[in-house]
Amino acid sequence: MVRFDKVSKRYGPLTVLDSLELDIARNEKVAIIGPSGSGKTTVLRMLMTLEAIDDGVIWVEGEPLTHMERNGKLIPADRAHIRKIRAKIGMVFQSFNLFPHMTAMANCIEAPITVLGMNRKEAEERAAGLLEMVGLSQKKEHYPAQLSGGQQQRVAIARALAMRPKIMLFDEVTSALDPELVGEVLQVIRRLGSEHDLTMLMVTHQMGFAKEFADRVCFFYQGKICEQGPPKAFFGNPQNERTKQFLHAVL
Ligand code: ATP
Repeated sequence: MVRFDKVSKRYGPLTVLDSLELDIARNEKVAIIGPSGSGKTTVLRMLMTLEAIDDGVIWVEGEPLTHMERNGKLIPADRAHIRKIRAKIGMVFQSFNLFPHMTAMANCIEAPITVLGMNRKEAEERAAGLLEMVGLSQKKEHYPAQLSGGQQQRVAIARALAMRPKIMLFDEVTSALDPELVGEVLQVIRRLGSEHDLTMLMVTHQMGFAKEFADRVCFFYQGKICEQGPPKAFFGNPQNERTKQFLHAVL
């Protein structure tokens, strides 16, 4: 479904991702963990085309994201190609990023109407269903400032889903929340994972959630995947010294 093929990213002299190889199957739930600065967020941002890549190719459903195939060769992608592939991907950020001047409902219908060309009635019906799914049918007409952090984050999840993505990216989506609000957001993600046909990549510091939710945990260290595996083996019997040190520090 998604493949990073020797993808590198540099900021000046700093190599943030170093020839990354990562293959994610359709419907797979992957948790990305690792120390601060190891490149976790950069992986999601590159997949969302918010950052350019320096080397390598990212593939989405067998098509290159940042390149186009022409006569058997890969050339840099144009905007229309990038837009087409990116439409398959939704992202939820640590800081919610809702439009502050729009209600929960308006936040959820804006892109389906302007980008997908959906008519307003259809967009509203769909948004109402999604807001209900995230437990906010009573808050449709509330503005972000009238919602708690957990509620805002649930609107952000509904807004991303309104674009009918096949792949959802979650970037530390509970990090900005008060501890008592973390559970409600994780509960929505849990439901999404079990009820929807979605491939999910999640950068998280919630080790308990990664353990219970993910099919695979990838531990990043200095721009590379240092160790990966199913949560039971990864947490129960880590092999790499770096992984052991990290888990010792955070668990
Ligand atoms: P954290 O857990 O702290 O969010 P992370 O593993 O997600 O960390 P990234 O955000 O991917 O790390 O950043 C990886 C490295 O790239 C960091 O050293 C960061 O300072 C650097 N970096 C990220 N964005 C930029 C940028 N726009 N310009 C320069 N350096 C950057």
